[in-house]
Amino acid sequence: MSKLYQGSWSRLLKANQYAKVDARYLAVLEHPSRFMQVSLPVRLDDGTTKIFTGYRVQHNNAMGPFKGGTRFHPDVNLDEVKNLAFLMSMKSAIVEIPYGGAKGGVSVDPKTLSEAELERLTRKYTEKIFEIIGPQIDVPAPDVNTNAQVMGWIVDEYSRLQGSFSPAAVTGKPLELHGSQGRPQATGYGGLYVLQAALKDYGKKLKLNDKVKVAVQGFGNVGYYFAEGAEKAGFEVVGISDSKGGITGRKLHPPSILQVKEEQGYLAGVYCKGTVCDMVPHEKISSEKFLEMETDVLVLAALENAITEKNASQIKAKVILELGNSSISPEADAVLNERGILVLPDILANAGGVTVSYFEWVQNLQGLYWEEEEVLTRLKKKMTTAFTKVAAETEAHDVDFRTAAAIISLKRISAAVKARGNI
Ligand code: NAD
Repeated sequence: MSKLYQGSWSRLLKANQYAKVDARYLAVLEHPSRFMQVSLPVRLDDGTTKIFTGYRVQHNNAMGPFKGGTRFHPDVNLDEVKNLAFLMSMKSAIVEIPYGGAKGGVSVDPKTLSEAELERLTRKYTEKIFEIIGPQIDVPAPDVNTNAQVMGWIVDEYSRLQGSFSPAAVTGKPLELHGSQGRPQATGYGGLYVLQAALKDYGKKLKLNDKVKVAVQGFGNVGYYFAEGAEKAGFEVVGISDSKGGITGRKLHPPSILQVKEEQGYLAGVYCKGTVCDMVPHEKISSEKFLEMETDVLVLAALENAITEKNASQIKAKVILELGNSSISPEADAVLNERGILVLPDILANAGGVTVSYFEWVQNLQGLYWEEEEVLTRLKKKMTTAFTKVAAETEAHDVDFRTAAAIISLKRISAAVKARGNI
């Protein structure tokens, strides 16, 4: 078993000390149901052809169709996609939506491609995984370096191959192609709702003032909307970072930072070229030091392993909201717990994305569309309910939030595996 997946699996085994799920159901969850690796020849603008490698891993579908995002990043590999697919099963279960877990990705640095090349790559990837996806089979969505435009190309290619327009085959689509109101904000706002619920219950114990300071690592889809929503909700944003470094300051205003970033160069609205280092009155800070800055809440909204055993003892925040998948390593868990830092784990904190993806799919299947307010109200209810149940499990077993969340997910998925029978 490879490193990332092994880490997640070790957390699940820890949860099973309390969930006490039968070994045969556990064995089903240990191995992804199916994975596909595809070779993607793409014609580049200069006339040459380059081969990329893509993946789709389907972890478990006992609770409903496989569901999960699509990542375009140079570091994408089978271990990473397997781990992300496993986490998708866990988070669908946490928010009680009728989905299993899957994930896809292509090993590519999309910032080196033109928009036309990116579209050709996306269409080729869709064509290659076409036979294993579909509204009742496996429904892709956005993840790192993919967005509504990329989902638009996927749904168009899927519909072309399938023979009719099929919006429920993909979520996170542009509104014009039957996307959902509220989907861009979903993961960030979902995390914000979890944080607000946690501070209501634990804020006093953690000796936090009313004006809570937040620092956000990652300024993409998830980090931006978290920061924007948090500022509107009365938090003080004191730090923002992206892959090129970070800035700290008083009362940072996320929309104006985004505006400057956009003015400095989006590639036809697909990718961000600027970096937060170029913006507004601020002090610059390195990506590493950013994680150790003075703040009440540290929000992780970038990639895996931001906090490991190497820096866990240096973290000054009292609360960590883990919006990025596997942004905290299993070794770091122990250090953070020991230090009394409240960690709101990925499978709970970032489940807002899959929740609104589910709302989008429901709207597509019904052909009936909801206002943004209805989407966000339903999202808040889902996230707050999930938090309350995880908090109760934490108290019941005297365990950390990650273990409590995994206990709940594990019980729900294995109950569905058991109910299906035949094993
Ligand atoms: P994105 O591509 O829109 O943004 C990623 C951001 O992370 C970028 O701003 C990038 O510059 C930054 N980044 C990369 N390395 C960094 C580093 N070392 N330090 C600081 N910043 C760094 O991706 P996203 O969709 O916002 O996803 C972010 C995380 O949230 C990922 O772990 C993803 O799996 C997870 N997630 C996303 C969704 C979703 O709906 N998009 C849902 C659930 C979970």
